Formats: sequence, structure tokens, C-alpha cells
Amino acid sequence: MLPDGRNLELKPGATAADAAQAIGPGLAKAAIGAIVNGELYDLLKPLPPHAELRILTEKDPEYAQLFRHTLAHVMAQAVRELYTERGYRPEEVKLAIGPVIENGFYYDMDAPEPIREEDLPIIEEKMRRIVAANLPLKRFVLPREEALKRYAGIDPYKTELIQDLPESEELSFYAQGDDTYGFTDLCRGPHVPSTGRIPPHFKLTGIAGAYWRGDSSRPMLQRIYGVAFRTKEELEHYLWQQEEAKRRDHRRLGQALELFTISEEVGKGLPLWLPRGAFIRRQMEDYMYQKEQEHGYHYVYTPHIANARLYYTSGHLPYYKDDMYAPIEIEGEEYYLKPMNCPHHHMIYKARPKSYRDLPLRLAEFGTVYRFELSGTLSGLTRARGFTQNDAHIYCSRAQVTEEFIRVIQLFDEVYKDFGISDYWFRLSLPDFENNPEKFGEENDNWRDSIKAIRAALEETGAKYVEGIGEATFYGPKLDVQIRSVLGKEETIATNQLDFIVPERFGLEFTNEKGEKETPVVIHRAIMGSFDRFFAFYLEHTAGDFPLWLSPIQAVIVPIADRHLEYAQKVAAEMRKNRLRVEIDDRSERMNAKIRDAELQKIPLILVVGDKEAEAGTVNVRERHVKEQRTLAVAALIEEMKARVEARK
Ligand SMILES: [Zn+2]
Ligand SMILES: [Zn+2]
Repeated sequence: MLPDGRNLELKPGATAADAAQAIGPGLAKAAIGAIVNGELYDLLKPLPPHAELRILTEKDPEYAQLFRHTLAHVMAQAVRELYTERGYRPEEVKLAIGPVIENGFYYDMDAPEPIREEDLPIIEEKMRRIVAANLPLKRFVLPREEALKRYAGIDPYKTELIQDLPESEELSFYAQGDDTYGFTDLCRGPHVPSTGRIPPHFKLTGIAGAYWRGDSSRPMLQRIYGVAFRTKEELEHYLWQQEEAKRRDHRRLGQALELFTISEEVGKGLPLWLPRGAFIRRQMEDYMYQKEQEHGYHYVYTPHIANARLYYTSGHLPYYKDDMYAPIEIEGEEYYLKPMNCPHHHMIYKARPKSYRDLPLRLAEFGTVYRFELSGTLSGLTRARGFTQNDAHIYCSRAQVTEEFIRVIQLFDEVYKDFGISDYWFRLSLPDFENNPEKFGEENDNWRDSIKAIRAALEETGAKYVEGIGEATFYGPKLDVQIRSVLGKEETIATNQLDFIVPERFGLEFTNEKGEKETPVVIHRAIMGSFDRFFAFYLEHTAGDFPLWLSPIQAVIVPIADRHLEYAQKVAAEMRKNRLRVEIDDRSERMNAKIRDAELQKIPLILVVGDKEAEAGTVNVRERHVKEQRTLAVAALIEEMKARVEARK
């Protein structure tokens, strides 16, 4: 049956190609595959009886799966061709599996001598010839015995694959070309009908080791990766993205610009901030401190460990235990490294009786927390075992929730604007009572009121937001901040949570206007999330080109010759008096080498001084990413730099 409801009468054993032919010659020519009962078919596999069928053409997105799979076979043929030229028999390159993956394909192989990086362009060239030869593909089925005989003593991997398949499974093969120029493989498909239908926009991207069946006690195979796209633009965009990702990788930049390091001797996932990185982080902290003061936050300090009892009250124990470090025993009691700052802050709230006049109370801390992450998941500053949150807890009455969320959203807007981040939006994460009642419980007034209050804040501020069902926490709805990275990836950078459960568990209260005891609600919020993650994000966002106000070294003075050193020192002293961060490159290197080094370090301003400048009391200014050089009087330069720092540019 076709999508328009028509029925097609086909002979038994007919394929999607026959179906397309029966519909019309135009479609027969354009057809590339079909969706059969919801499953992707190629034009070669017989259709099941009474199938629902939709013919696909090269315009359909499923096309990519077909040619990516055929490319894996084409690559296997090319590798065998290469080894034949090196004097081996083709079957000495043993083949394991060759599936389609996101953006491309791979094939796991066991070659008589290792495949090298340098072989990839040669293999790719051979692949292009196979594609150009437009070899037709055929599909055939063999009985199990014959299939096993085919690989007996030749390919242990294929043999094992066949042996592991259930008896009822049909063993299909795909063959392209013929015995002299071609390739046959045990394969479920689906494929394009001939190699000429593969777009030429593919590239082999690398070789990696891979254990047979992912089992480290089995042989290590070689996996060749490739990517393939329908258009040249897609391929180029993909390759550009990969290059950019490498160029902007915060771990690489952190090393190159001497910002942070991770020492195995200190421990996995425990970053060390080097002076330059620490400087920038301190600027960020000072900035947030000042902002939050303006917004009515009060700063507190809390210790890094706490008695286990605190975490039983908060509910972290036992539920969150796997994410916490093992306890430390002190005087017969258990203490934990803190995974969150909230319980400590709740105890600060509780330290003195509160009345409605004290609310909203906004407690802030740059709180360092420790969470146990599996070592395999650790990654630079984005996933670490110790990090410092830009944390705060707002204690308020239910009536104040909307107003407080409005203030939080405004603070986000101010901060992100100052850091030049414009592509972000909010995501209101809601409970899913229907599918996850164990987590969210019953829909009640707590949920209804708090969701309404946050929505009102979003509407009031005109913030850009989406809603996500099922992503709330068990104690209340969440307002995540989503950001699009320069590479187009969406990430959650910060989160705000409304909490109407934990304040009760801690017995928090305040005396309301009527003199009655009432339980406040808590808003957990972190504008920058953690300084570590925000720093990593910002590093990738700027590719290490920090604006003047954040740069640890704002300018480097390059004296042309030794006799200009004295003038350079005078300029530097004048700048430092104005709290500008400047260094003199007084190494006995050539001027051009010094300029190049400063550029590699991404210093915003390079100030060259020679006879002319010393004479006139000026500097020659080379600004990063600006073509023209300028000559400025020292006083004018200082004024300009101060104005930019002031404006956070
Ligand atoms: Zn295959
Ligand atoms: Zn919290």
C-alpha cells in the first residue's frame, strides 16, 4: 500500500525498485530506497507481503544512511586493493563490522600489517575510483552452512558473527562489482543500488584501535573512520566545525595560554589555576561580587566538610551518596566533603530567628564543592571533581517568588551582556506527573503556584524561553539557562531551582505579618553556574581572545633596540601607575619575533617603541585583530585603555 492509499500488485520477491517501476519510470529513475512498514529498505531487498511502502529519493534524509553504509563497503574494497598491491591476498585483510554512525561510517579491520595514517589518502583515492566506476550492487542470501564455508579458515570475525546469529536469521550478502574489481560482504544492508549513487563528498578522518566486540580480552582491531554528506557545503561545514572545535578546545587553550593545568599527582579532575588563569577568574569573581552586592546579596563563608547528619536532613544521604566522596571519620562521626552549599546556607538562615522584614534574604557564596565523577567522564574544567559555584540561595515568601525571579533574570541579562554572550535563552523545566509520579508526586498547589510564579516572571521580563516537561527536580520547577556555543551546540550553562520541600525538612521558618510561623521557599541560583565551567565556556567562546578588562596582560611593550629600554620602562611605569597591566619584552630577540610571541599569547595591545616614539613621547599601537597601526601619546593611550576597562570592553 502506498502513502496515498493506493494498492500495488507485485510479484512475490519484488523489491522497492519493482514497486517504483510499477508507479512510473520517472520515480524508478529517482528512487534510492524505501520506507517499508516503517523500516528503511534499499532497492535490492525483497519486500514482505502486504507492505506499507513509501519510495525515497536522494532528497530524503534517509539517503545518507544508504550511501554511508555503502561507503563502508567501498572502503573495505579499497583497503584490500591496497594490500593486494603490497603483495597480500585480499582476504588477508580480515573484516569485522562496518556500520553507519552519525555523520559517517567506520569499518573494523585486521590487516596483515598495520594501516597507517599516511595510507588514508591512498585509500580515499581508491574509494573515489570505485565510486566513479559506478559498480552495481547485488543482494543474495546463502544458507548458513554455505555462509560459514565461505569464511572458514579465512575470517574468524565473520565466522563468529554468523555463529552468533539465531538459526532463523536470514544471511544476506551484498556484492558490488565482480571478482576482478569488486567486493562482497556479509551484510544486512541497506545500500544504494550502485556505487555511482554515492555523492563524492566524503573523507576518511582517522584510525583508532578497537577491541573485537569491545572486549579488552579479544584481539585489537583497527577502525578507520570516515564522514560523508550529501553536499559539498555540508562536508565543508562539518570539517570547519571540527577544526574550530580543536582550535577553541578549552583544554588546549588552557595549556597554550598558561591558564590552568591538571596534575595527576594532585589528583584527577582537580584543576590547578595558574597565575594568568587565576587572574581572570579573580576578575570574574570580583565582578560577580560587585554585581551581587548591587542586587542585594549578602556574602557568607562555609566550611568544605560537614557532618553526615546535615546531609541526612537535606536528603543528599542516602540518595546522592554515589556522587559524594567517601566519608571521613572524625571522633567517631562521619563527615563528608560538601557536594552542595545549600545545607550550610540553610543553617545560616536558621542561626537567628527571622521575621517577614528579613525577607527576601539572599545568601551568596563562591562555594567550592566536590563531587565524585567517574574518571572516564572527566574533562578539563567542564567536568571536574572539585569546582567553585557562583552560588546563592534566596529565602522568600511565596508571594515574593515572581519578584525574585524577575531580579534573577535581570541579573543574568546584565552579566551575560557584559561578557558579550548574546545567544542564550531560558528553559522552564516542568514536572511530568503522568510518566514519573515516583519522582514528582502528585500535582498540588505547591507545583501549580510555583510554576505560575516563574512563568509570570518570564512574561514580565520578556525573556526568551521554552518549556521542557519532565526535567524539573523532585523538589520544584527549574529555570535553566541554555546557551548556544560558537560551534552551534546547545548547552545548559546555569540553573535556578525553586524549592518548596527542603525548607520544610530543615524546619526553616519566619514570623509573618500576622505573627504566625510560616515556611519560606528557597530559590537556588547560580548566575555563572560554576566559575570553572563558565571559564571553560568563555575560553571557547572567545578562543582565548580575552577583552582588555579581563586580560591578565593588557599590553606588551616591545623596544626596537636596547637603547629604547629606558623609554619603555618609563612608559610601563606610567601605565602601571594607572593600574594597567603591562609587561616589557626585554629579551634580546628580534622585534618581529617578540611581536609574534605576543600575538601567540593573544595579548590585546602590542606597543612598539623606537627612536621616533621616545623622541615624541608616543607609542606605536598594534591592536589584536585590527589592521591599522596607530601612534598615540602615552597619556592618550592610558585614557583610552582606562575607558575600555571601565566599559568592560
Ligand atoms: Zn554492510
Ligand atoms: Zn542550592
